[in-house]
Amino acid sequence: MDPRANYLAHREEIDGAIRAVLEGGRYILGPEVAAFEAEFAAYVGVRHAVGVGSGTEALHLALLALGIGAGDVVATASHTAVATVAAIELAGATPLLVDIEPRTFTMDPERLEEAIAAQRATPPSASVRAVIPVHLYGHPADLTAILAVARRHDLRVIEDCAQAHGASWNGRRVGAHGDIAAFSFYPTKNLAALGDGGAVVTDDPALAERVRLLREYGWRERYVSHFAGTNSRLDELQAAVLRVKLRHLEAENARRRAIAAMYDQALAGSSVALPRARTEGRHVYHQYVVRSPRRDALIEEFGGRGTRLLIHYPQPVHLQPAYRTRARLAPGGLPHTEQVCREIVSLPMHPHLTDSQARTVTEWILSWDRAAVKGA
Ligand SMILES: *Cc1c(COP(=O)(O)O)cnc(C)c1O
Repeated sequence: MDPRANYLAHREEIDGAIRAVLEGGRYILGPEVAAFEAEFAAYVGVRHAVGVGSGTEALHLALLALGIGAGDVVATASHTAVATVAAIELAGATPLLVDIEPRTFTMDPERLEEAIAAQRATPPSASVRAVIPVHLYGHPADLTAILAVARRHDLRVIEDCAQAHGASWNGRRVGAHGDIAAFSFYPTKNLAALGDGGAVVTDDPALAERVRLLREYGWRERYVSHFAGTNSRLDELQAAVLRVKLRHLEAENARRRAIAAMYDQALAGSSVALPRARTEGRHVYHQYVVRSPRRDALIEEFGGRGTRLLIHYPQPVHLQPAYRTRARLAPGGLPHTEQVCREIVSLPMHPHLTDSQARTVTEWILSWDRAAVKGA
């Protein structure tokens, strides 16, 4: 990832947009936020977008808007950014963590169905009210199957799109499939602010209005709270930057896909397992994640050549110290999640990576493979 390269690529436009906000004198909830909300809603293909303070807050406010809170259970994956699970607890609900399909790293709908049944049968029984599919690494979760499970069990669906701006499922962008969806504009995401930011999107005007009020103390008119809200606003500077970046998102996602195609082709015969995209989905490669039982040695190899490879994420949420003793797990535990976390590593991936840099990455992996064969 290289947030600075993304700023430099659009420097004049961004500097101009920032200067206009500085000189305009409106810094919170002004014309830039309103314009970005309209443009982003149109991009996703929904009627409403509401700019908020972060992706975590977007998930939190989406849950509150749906009326989900204490006594409710919300199913999601443990193989995700901790923010997904933190947001469920912020809303006062209980996370129920479900295993993934190891080939695509996203929630396994069959495990979801089992978890819902087990939750009904086991005291202390709180009902599963909602599910948060996470479109991890830019690849859509199996929305067809998850939406079918949700319909059967009357669950609300909140899509976590924090890593998947512009990804689609059966030709429709993610964020337009569930009841409501959350996006993050953290500086490393595919659509990135120069600071924190997030958005909630939905087709439902009542839900959008609730999020709009919740983000500013429940105010309908200034200084009069209609219900207890919070302060979670996207600011004008970030909205102005995001309006510039949104115009380049499609080209940048296409570049990510081109780099992924280079990796796919060059590494097809290598020892690392390559990421799989479902035919219904359009992957936008927030990360290009490979698997290898010798992952730690690969990281060391790259480290020796001056390139730090990251793991997204080294520990699933349910094994992290804060959650270890209290995470509620689906029956059978999360064996795929745990196995995957031992083997994954993310290759360099951002739209400003050059062809020659991508080629170098693949050459290092292939020569590391040859050294292993010789060493064996
Ligand atoms: C980044 C991220 C979030 C949280 O977004 P913030 O803007 O950092 O609060 C939530 N879910 C996933 C999957 C993420 O990658």
